[in-house]
Amino acid sequence: MHTTELPARGAVASSPTLRALPQHCKVCGAEFEAAPEAICGACLGPLEPMYPASRRLPSRAEIASRPPSMWRYREWLPFDGTPTLSQDTGFTPLVSAPRLADRLGVAQLWIKNDAVSHPSLSFKDRVVASAINAAVAFGLEIIGCASTGNLANAVAAHAARAGLPAWIFIPDNLEQAKVLGTAVYGPHLVRVRGHYDDVNRLCAQLADRFGWGIVNVNLRGYYGEGSKTMGFEIAEQLGWRLPSAVVVPMAGGSLLTKLHKAFGEFRETGLVSDAAPRMYGAQAAGCAPIARLVESGGETIVPEIPNTIAKSIAIGNPADGVFAARAMRGTGGWAAAVSDERIVAAIRLLAETTGIFTETAGGATVAAALALAGQGRFGADDEVVLCITGNGLKTLDAISESITDSPLINPRVREVAALVEAAG
Ligand SMILES: *Cc1c(COP(=O)(O)O)cnc(C)c1O
Ligand SMILES: [Zn+2]
Repeated sequence: MHTTELPARGAVASSPTLRALPQHCKVCGAEFEAAPEAICGACLGPLEPMYPASRRLPSRAEIASRPPSMWRYREWLPFDGTPTLSQDTGFTPLVSAPRLADRLGVAQLWIKNDAVSHPSLSFKDRVVASAINAAVAFGLEIIGCASTGNLANAVAAHAARAGLPAWIFIPDNLEQAKVLGTAVYGPHLVRVRGHYDDVNRLCAQLADRFGWGIVNVNLRGYYGEGSKTMGFEIAEQLGWRLPSAVVVPMAGGSLLTKLHKAFGEFRETGLVSDAAPRMYGAQAAGCAPIARLVESGGETIVPEIPNTIAKSIAIGNPADGVFAARAMRGTGGWAAAVSDERIVAAIRLLAETTGIFTETAGGATVAAALALAGQGRFGADDEVVLCITGNGLKTLDAISESITDSPLINPRVREVAALVEAAG
């Protein structure tokens, strides 16, 4: 039942019932005991959790009988024992969008709607739910993050519920809703002069200096696995099938990489038998290092200085960019970078055709899907899922100028009648 690794370095008082799994290096394969560390000591490659090959896996029926949260896929999450925190995250709606399918010229289209993720209205709840349980397993008493906004919201919310102090670092130019939607939970919230990449570099130093569990730095291997649950849910919600193509917004490139991994894991276990979906990535033209890597065919990221309204995905030096590019090329997918104008138009198109209000990252996803369709990358038989990862109420400024004022009237039927006539 229990693995035999030594207590984690820096551990304070680890949970007796929950252990994090050991990790291995994605580049050189070196193995490491479970610890709040994310980088290979041998080659500096990223670490990711290792699952015992002999573990018992559940059937479709067994999974379906479990509570509707991301933890119904717990055998594919990096723990030995039962996680207790953040049990309510996941199992967001998968919504059919026939009008958008027509626009793209594909057979079927669904929106995976993490705009209503619980509790903080973005897919970052999934990664934080995984990371906070790893922090507890390691006995870490303080968690934190470097964030472009949504991760700050999620860490603050999940830490508040768990009663853990949180130190959260954000660039100084974030949207007000992202700042207030973090501060309200009472964390230590620090604004840093600079871009996300400066904040991230600072946090890498802080994790070592203070022994904190920075969810996307030293807990990154455990954090990333939470993203897989979006892919598992898509498969189950389609009736244990895979779509033929998936469009995903990219910041660090982790979500796209982990969705690809999730589809592979379900195919390996026989829970689904379809081909691997073609993976398509979306970025804003003002910060598109991964999309440009896909287009150039190169092997290394060329970092960029972000300049876009899509701040939640504005990472100039993406940690998983190379892996994301490989997943896209390897599955026959591609990437698109879209202008801020297209992002705003696509936020409105999604709202008007599906009733789903997304933030700028979702606008980038829908705009990228339209651009890719325009390049002839989808066929009439395609069954496409668009991953909508965040909520539009968090980025109201992005659309406020594009929405015309509503008429103001006195409470008189006559005035409404005039409006009805004018509306034709
Ligand atoms: C963080 C984020 C992403 C992408 O994250 P990755 O770093 O690529 O995993 C996508 N959408 C939203 C809204 C996000 O906040
Ligand atoms: Zn290595």
